[in-house]
Amino acid sequence: MLLFKKVAELQQYLQKVSNEGKTIGFVPTMGALHQGHLSLVNRAKSEASCTVVSIFVNPTQFNDKKDLKKYPRTLGNDIEMLSSVQTNVLFAPSVEEVYPEGLDTSLDLDFGQLATVMEGAFRPGHFDGMAQVVHRLLDIVQPNKLFMGQKDFQQLTIVRSMLKQLNHKTELVVCPIIREADGLAMSSRNRRLTPVYREKAVLLSQILSKVKSNIHSRTPENMAKMAMKTLTEAGFKPEYFDIVDGVTLQSIKQFSDSDFVVALTAAWAGEIRLIDNMILKEEKKAILA
Ligand code: AMP
Repeated sequence: MLLFKKVAELQQYLQKVSNEGKTIGFVPTMGALHQGHLSLVNRAKSEASCTVVSIFVNPTQFNDKKDLKKYPRTLGNDIEMLSSVQTNVLFAPSVEEVYPEGLDTSLDLDFGQLATVMEGAFRPGHFDGMAQVVHRLLDIVQPNKLFMGQKDFQQLTIVRSMLKQLNHKTELVVCPIIREADGLAMSSRNRRLTPVYREKAVLLSQILSKVKSNIHSRTPENMAKMAMKTLTEAGFKPEYFDIVDGVTLQSIKQFSDSDFVVALTAAWAGEIRLIDNMILKEEKKAILA
């Protein structure tokens, strides 16, 4: 695996790769890698001839500066994990490389209601920062395909909208959520859970599964209320549990209102904020492709 820290050196190498007619698959991450990230790398390896992974904890997408400071950084271990799956290139730039003085990296795009609901309502500015860094990294790496996880469902909806608005040549590939044995969605933040909350955290995926198996017996509103109550009673501080159309991200009144329905939730487990989601109904599978 080659490790680059400088934009110019990475670009020089990738230019050679594309001159050889090879395709580039790109997996952006913030590091503290786990098997969920590696599933994206493996998918990229199966669909592109050169796989580039970036590790960059992007300051502009953290609305909470304490969260940025506490975000786990485990570069040595990440390098070992990426080498173990034969990643071709790791790009681990500094903040100054990504946002050099004098370079305008701001983006003037309108995501409308996609960016104001759920995560957008609770993490003001988060999606602007996320779109800014994904756009900048795409500009640097120029990949044929971009691999992202369904774990961050709203994020990939916004990235899809960004690619469409910019008429971007990169194709977005969505990869399924990888879970721990008990069902907890893998996350870099899980390692910061207290033992008590780690044990309880399985509740998020359990509720999502329960909602999925009951979509014919109750209304979305009723189920969302029930889920918020169950999470609160178990000692979580849930921010939202929404059942939405998977394209518009707007809440639905009846399950028959949409043929692509997703339930999404965010809840504080002590000091750690967890997110998870589950597709409840997906008649048009192509939507996620
Ligand atoms: P992050 O490092 O958390 O910014 O995540 C980098 C990429 O990995 C994003 O596209 C995430 O959606 C994806 N990802 C994170 N957790 C998982 C998981 N449990 N399963 C699959 N993909 C994931």
